[in-house]
Amino acid sequence: MKRILVTGGSGFIGSHLCKRLLDEGNEVLCVDNFFTGRRENVHHLLDNKNFELLRHDITFPLYVEVDQIYNLACPASPIHYQFDPVQTTKTSVMGSINMLGLAKRLKIRILQASTSEVYGDPSVHPQPESYWGNVNPIGPRACYDEGKRCAETLFFDYHRQHNLDIKVVRIFNTYGPNMQANDGRVVSNFIMQALKNEPLTIFGDGTQTRSFCYVDDLVEGMVKMMQTDKGFTGPVNMGNPEEFTMLQLAETIIEMTGSKSKLVFKPLPVDDPKQRKPDTQISKNDLNWEPHVKLEVGLGRTIEYFSNILLAEFSSKRELNII
Ligand code: NAD
Ligand code: UDP
Repeated sequence: MKRILVTGGSGFIGSHLCKRLLDEGNEVLCVDNFFTGRRENVHHLLDNKNFELLRHDITFPLYVEVDQIYNLACPASPIHYQFDPVQTTKTSVMGSINMLGLAKRLKIRILQASTSEVYGDPSVHPQPESYWGNVNPIGPRACYDEGKRCAETLFFDYHRQHNLDIKVVRIFNTYGPNMQANDGRVVSNFIMQALKNEPLTIFGDGTQTRSFCYVDDLVEGMVKMMQTDKGFTGPVNMGNPEEFTMLQLAETIIEMTGSKSKLVFKPLPVDDPKQRKPDTQISKNDLNWEPHVKLEVGLGRTIEYFSNILLAEFSSKRELNII
């Protein structure tokens, strides 16, 4: 049994990770400032005596005693990380310095939730870990992309300079229950729009691609990575290599929900990557990890989650006689 700190633990991925670590018999300290995370995501864990929830912003130092750190704190959807870009960079850079300092004092292992956004709008396809990326350092996505790139730099400098035991995973688009309905990410947007029979908003011409990983697969990979030998630092890509255009995703979701929605085309956001797909050789060979959940299966579970949210909203409005 370990005492494990999960920063950003009440967010989408963090909440699944906290549950998984508790299920394995660990103690979990979930630290979150609730910027994009929600208490509801970890509500079901609050009765567990091994779970502790602490409101804290990781841009400020944190003094706790733990055995391992998973550093996930950072808004991940474009509308949220662009809402307060200075805070986004601070969270990645100052937050990482604080968490690395904590790991250094305690001489413990720390894992960084990095991102495929370190590759920017990639000119190499699929993206191997050796690719240095194509990031616009002054665009609206830079607060996130460059923040995460600087965090990786800090992790590797703490490793080289202080012999810190680090693990870096580069997460590709992940989806599943506990995503926020209004966070603007493509899977949540399309499902909510389809369930309400509203038009699905395709940005650009919809030919841009992404590869979608179901959250359970990702969490399995992160836990596996945390358990590797000290010499194995990563970075390791973590994502599902099956690639889809946004048009394909929209059509699949319309079909699965039986929706009457049509498509509506909106301008492509600035610096929106045209293609994204992980090269998974390292995760497959060195980590013995690969995702198993097919898009339709994962979407089915996610659609059910969002349907229940809509149903609960509908029932409470009826109770209040709003509708
Ligand atoms: P999320 O927004 O649901 O979760 C992030 C959590 O961090 C939230 O609970 C938020 O309140 C918290 N947080 C933000 N700033 C904080 C701060 N300064 N101090 C403390 N807590 C703070 O996003 P997510 O999708 O769960 O992503 C989790 C991590 O995984 C992020 O670091 C993100 O960059 C990374 N990631 C996610 C994806 C994806 O597709 N979901 C892809 C690549 C990387
Ligand atoms: N996207 C879209 N419609 C939406 C939301 C997003 O077409 O309502 C597109 C977006 O332009 C991008 C892709 O879907 O090309 C994935 O967007 P998301 O914000 O989910 O993730 P990211 O761009 O960070 O990969």
